[in-house]
Amino acid sequence: MRIALIGNPNCGKTALFNRLTGANQHVGNYPGVTVEAKEGGLRAHADCRVVDLPGVYSLRTYSAEERISRDFLLDGAPDGVINLVDVTCLGRGLYLTLQVIELGIPAVLALNMMDDLHAGGGSVDTQALSEALGIPVIPVSAAKNQGIQALADSILRVVRTDKRPKKQVLSDGALGQCIGQVNALIADRAKSAGLPLAFAASRLIEGERPIADRLALSTRERESVERCVVRLEEQVGADRAVASAGTRYAFIDRVCADVLTVPKRPARARSAAIDRVLTGKILAYPLFLLIMGLVFYLTFSVLGPWGQDLAERGVQAVTDAADRLLLDLGVHPALRSLISDGIFAGVGSVLSFLPVIVVLFFFLSVLEDSGYMARVAFIMDRPLRLIGLSGKSIVPLLLGFGCSVPAIMASRTLSCDRDRKMTLLLVPYMSCSAKLPIYAMFAGAFFASAPGLLIVELYLLGIVFAILASAVFSKTAFRGKSAPFLLELPDYRLPSPGSVFRLMLRKAKEFLQKAFTVIFLASVVIWVLRSFDPRFHLTADGEQSMLALIGKQALPLFAPLGFERWEICCALITGLTAKEAVLSTLSVLSGGAALTALFADRIAVFSFLIFTLLYTPCVAAFAALRRELGSLSKALGVALMQCAVAYAAAGVFYQIACMVV
Ligand code: GDP
Ligand code: MG
Repeated sequence: MRIALIGNPNCGKTALFNRLTGANQHVGNYPGVTVEAKEGGLRAHADCRVVDLPGVYSLRTYSAEERISRDFLLDGAPDGVINLVDVTCLGRGLYLTLQVIELGIPAVLALNMMDDLHAGGGSVDTQALSEALGIPVIPVSAAKNQGIQALADSILRVVRTDKRPKKQVLSDGALGQCIGQVNALIADRAKSAGLPLAFAASRLIEGERPIADRLALSTRERESVERCVVRLEEQVGADRAVASAGTRYAFIDRVCADVLTVPKRPARARSAAIDRVLTGKILAYPLFLLIMGLVFYLTFSVLGPWGQDLAERGVQAVTDAADRLLLDLGVHPALRSLISDGIFAGVGSVLSFLPVIVVLFFFLSVLEDSGYMARVAFIMDRPLRLIGLSGKSIVPLLLGFGCSVPAIMASRTLSCDRDRKMTLLLVPYMSCSAKLPIYAMFAGAFFASAPGLLIVELYLLGIVFAILASAVFSKTAFRGKSAPFLLELPDYRLPSPGSVFRLMLRKAKEFLQKAFTVIFLASVVIWVLRSFDPRFHLTADGEQSMLALIGKQALPLFAPLGFERWEICCALITGLTAKEAVLSTLSVLSGGAALTALFADRIAVFSFLIFTLLYTPCVAAFAALRRELGSLSKALGVALMQCAVAYAAAGVFYQIACMVV
């Protein structure tokens, strides 16, 4: 049994999905976070699968994620639909509901954000709404976990009893008549094409060609449909699209007036007041910088180091204990070295940065959940336009600070192909969280007086490169204008501790998973390559090891960037698997000695960090890029370009800095 979950962007589908299934998917307070259908088993009914679909306003539009939702409903043969509507903008949500009802699949309307409605003193007559629409209506609050069980029971009931919405909702008026006539004309065709009749009729009336083709209508049938439409246009006095949408909205307005007690919107008024400052002409950008600066300061100079210190001590204690145990047990020195110098050193070096990551995502999720991040998209629209990008690109770009993989996927929300490809290419310049441990490590070791500042500089540098790159792109490969962009700003609210906590938990889990899989493996491989010489004799002298041979091959290539040790080359190469591996490799190779010894001076360190910031993110990001570009050779080209840019940038910096200093 499969249940589709459909609704407008940002109405809380993913939050509801998580409640229904116990999953922990990203709930974002801006549209465009979910771009793929996600599936999960209903709690206590694992055989019943719930599919979280990307948000859409209507089933006729054609951006990539909208197509996913529509295709799933039409061709994925779901057994039931939960249509989620944000009750605080009920009218807009019901437009989609009318189309969902036309699909004729057993459906339940769930009204989300009931907590918000009640907080403003509003209420809704669900009984009357249910009668007007002909499907059950269940009030819920995904955030407060209210009404979830009732919703699950209701959808199971309608699916089991196969209760389909029968009623033709729009039955009277010119549109109602027109639908009735077209229904009669195409009934047989719809049946043989496997399309829901009411849906097909409405799409035809609105003039959707592909539907006519799918129904395999003859020329005469097409003409008959067109005659009905002409009559409708005459009666309403507007063209087909306007006549259809207008009638629907008029119907919805009537229903809303009947069932809804409109809340006072203290939140809206308060948001407007806050927005006059936060997104105002003068203060928007300074405040944005200030807020981000504060987040970085608190993360990297106050809370982060404290947590990191604690974690390091913990890791050290465990490492020592394990080492002692191995010594007592008298295991072979090689095995002991593998465990202590390889696995513990490698994985441990990465693990100690867990607190920094968690703290950063705490702040970011507070900013997101409060509604500020959506404002960032809004205030960034103008500058992004200047460099030939649309404000809509900001969502993937912001996600890129977390991880390039979901960010690359989120670029699908851009309906215009030019904007989409350009955004794909820029995402890697948003420094992802896997690079953070590297920055934090070097900032602590080399720039201890103001570690936060160095990290901010690196992030800004990435952004500057993105700006330069997009300026170049829009003058060369991607000429033209970006598509206009409409973003709805949610009201400001206090962040919910639950959703902030869940995001932190998810980040921590992802981080740990990576540490114990990719980094673990990379550490073992690096240890083996470092401990054996080419004839597989154990060697204590690192210089004789296989790894040294490999690294020394690459050394001349990296010399212009100021890297004089083969260890650095090896770290950068393993960094292609995952960025944390740069750090774990350096730790395994330095064998407990200070990393500072590997670099001649700070200029070399900075050159190294620039290279790390700019070169190809990791295999996972590469795979995502390949999927989105739909071609291996193009993706390889992009990866090569990224490495070339990184090489050039680090090289130019190093050469110039050496001349100046
Ligand atoms: P989606 O785009 O439809 O998947 O929406 P999300 O699940 O990502 O949620 C959008 C925003 O609405 C998030 O900030 C949620 O925290 C918030 N939200 C979801 N459900 C509720 C609710 O019942 N009440 C309130 N006040 N906020 C909610
Ligand atoms: Mg979502």
